[in-house]
Amino acid sequence: MSPQRLSHVPPSFLRTLPQGLLELDIADRIYLDPDTTTRFSTDFGRLTRAPPSAVLYPSSPDDIAALVRFSYFSPHPFPVAARGCGHSIRGQALAPGGVVVDMPSLGRGRDDRRINVSGGDGSSSWYVDAGGEQLWIDVLHETLKHGFAPRSWTDYLHLTVGGTLSNAGVSGQAFRHGPQISNVYELEVVTGEMMRCSHNENPALFYGVLGGLGQLGIITRARIAVEPAPERVRWARLIYTDFVSFTRDQELLISMSEEGFDYVEGSLLMMDHSLIGNWRSSFFSDRDWEKVKLLASQFGAIYCLEGAVYYEMATASSVDQVKVLLLLSSPMQLVGLVPTIISSQDPRPYSSSMPPSLLLVFIRDASLLSFVPGFAFANDVSYMGFLDRVHTGELKLRSMGLWDVPHPWLNIFVPKSRIRDFEIGVFKGILKPNNSMGPVLIYPLKKNKYMSAVIPDEEIFYSIGLLRSAIMGDWEHLDDQNDEILRFCRREGIEYKQYLPHYTAQTDWMKHFGLKWNAFVELKRRYDPKLLLSPGQRIFTSSLIEHVSEQEIPFLKLY
Ligand code: FAD
Repeated sequence: MSPQRLSHVPPSFLRTLPQGLLELDIADRIYLDPDTTTRFSTDFGRLTRAPPSAVLYPSSPDDIAALVRFSYFSPHPFPVAARGCGHSIRGQALAPGGVVVDMPSLGRGRDDRRINVSGGDGSSSWYVDAGGEQLWIDVLHETLKHGFAPRSWTDYLHLTVGGTLSNAGVSGQAFRHGPQISNVYELEVVTGEMMRCSHNENPALFYGVLGGLGQLGIITRARIAVEPAPERVRWARLIYTDFVSFTRDQELLISMSEEGFDYVEGSLLMMDHSLIGNWRSSFFSDRDWEKVKLLASQFGAIYCLEGAVYYEMATASSVDQVKVLLLLSSPMQLVGLVPTIISSQDPRPYSSSMPPSLLLVFIRDASLLSFVPGFAFANDVSYMGFLDRVHTGELKLRSMGLWDVPHPWLNIFVPKSRIRDFEIGVFKGILKPNNSMGPVLIYPLKKNKYMSAVIPDEEIFYSIGLLRSAIMGDWEHLDDQNDEILRFCRREGIEYKQYLPHYTAQTDWMKHFGLKWNAFVELKRRYDPKLLLSPGQRIFTSSLIEHVSEQEIPFLKLY
């Protein structure tokens, strides 16, 4: 810490600074000035504010380990929070009175970007090793140079590897490949020491950290599965006025796990701000958009199924058939057309070696996706253009000054058996009329693809994302509406689980984790017994430490 920098720090800050921190070797990478600590005192949600005492800009994982160790052995241990980009909503990456670790600085100013693609030597599949601080968009750019890409994504790629792996990382590919946490071979984690973990090595830590809300260690490297990257994407949106048909078709598409669509999502469109402000991507032409808006105004609320088929240029002509199918004005016409398409493409009967696009034809109950006749739209885009689609929306909102506003988002997983009740109570009830801006996502996921994230106890459940922006100073109203939705679910006995959860009482956390709670507490005792890590999640109280014996703490024995 240089004297100049210290001279900028108000004495009150120095009083709250953990003693001895500035004597560490990493002191020149610790910042205390109010400008810095203020920048790290809130997040994307803009609903919570709490400054840290200091911010560490680590130059290596060892710097992070030194900080965590120092706190652990300090007479006054202080909280430490890794911060990816602070895309959390409720202060999950804050460290009030403690030290925030600015993860992106691990990769700053380096030539290698800490992203390395390897494998395929006969003994292993291809994979990418990415620093926990890396953005998924950079992982994509780097892997594409080798012709590969991770297979499971989030809708938005400007999130960090460590940040999404601490939650789950879900998007329209998860029904097939599982969430991002199901596509990791190995992790390097700072728990005070550097630990490597995988399915075979320290498996409890491995599965605990994946989806572990930053509670057990700080991810500094993840080895992520990749697959050959497709070149192009045929991207479709089908409009429904009937929720039952919409969800039935979504479930049909996700049941075709190996050969059908590569991506399935969906959303609610309402004739108000949510429709106008559905910023997630530019998809519709102006003419089509007018058509969709007119339908929405007739029905109040309509549903949009979004699907995508990946393909190579070499199979482009058969993929064109998908476009033909999707642009048909009537599902019944589709039935009529099927034999023609099959015979012109491939006279053989259905076989699994057929290009995935043709399999749409074989959705046999099928031919019968029940979207509104004339309301199927398709675009053809590059793989990169498809995956980075939300960024286009971000730039649009930024240019309008609508990105850095409060985001009282609510993400929940709702069991399939109750999705219709949810629709009636929430989409047709609480949210009507909806005067807010932002997408409302609705899409099914499959249980068997999940590992450690907390999910409902049903084979299929729906990911519901109310991603609303408070652009009219109305965040409290939107938040009240979120509470009303959760109250409605509890009253109706809908066994939902929050995704990117936010609770303030430990009893609620216990309920959230359910049968997994005791195992989670055991892991916390083992890897973070002094409750230093990610305090912004507000899961643990100080009581945990009282139950810890020295034998239980491998960490203590090492230093
Ligand atoms: P932060 O907000 O900085 O951190 C999140 C939590 O993880 C904190 O508790 C933090 O302490 C901890 N943490 C951060 N880095 C590490 C690390 N290296 N090791 C251990 N713990 C760490 N999520 C989805 O699943 N699917 C989506 O499609 C999706 N879309 C999104 C779109 C937008 C526009 C935004 C803002 C968010 C979206 N998210 C989505 C949510 C996102 O996954 C979370 O915000 C997540 O926390 C990643 O953000 P981050 O990297 O900035 O992490």
